[in-house]
Amino acid sequence: MAALSPRVRRRKDAFKAREISRQRIERLFSLADEEYVAHPERSDRYVGIARRICTRMRIRMLRHLKAKFCKHCGSYLLPSARRVRLKDGIITETCLRCGKHLRRPYSPAKSKRSLAPGSPVS
Ligand SMILES: [Zn+2]
Repeated sequence: MAALSPRVRRRKDAFKAREISRQRIERLFSLADEEYVAHPERSDRYVGIARRICTRMRIRMLRHLKAKFCKHCGSYLLPSARRVRLKDGIITETCLRCGKHLRRPYSPAKSKRSLAPGSPVS
């Protein structure tokens, strides 16, 4: 629309907008955490909003928040709402709401507990 280099301006704005949306996502997840006890359905809604922001702004879900919801049914997952199993460097979390699995890798060697004497080192 504007005559003065619209391409550059758009890129700058997108950078700012993404920064703001990251802050909003953080805020939504902290709200989800607060509301979970009294209104778990609100937590799910906040997760939904946060995911939609990601889609819209074309950013990735923040890494530390990725594990806090089920990507299949979109529900907010507290440790009590999931089952965690470790096997061969893969964390498998089962969502107790929809029963589907979320898998992500982990490196067992990094944790000090796994290096306790007597434990097998593979
Ligand atoms: Zn689920």
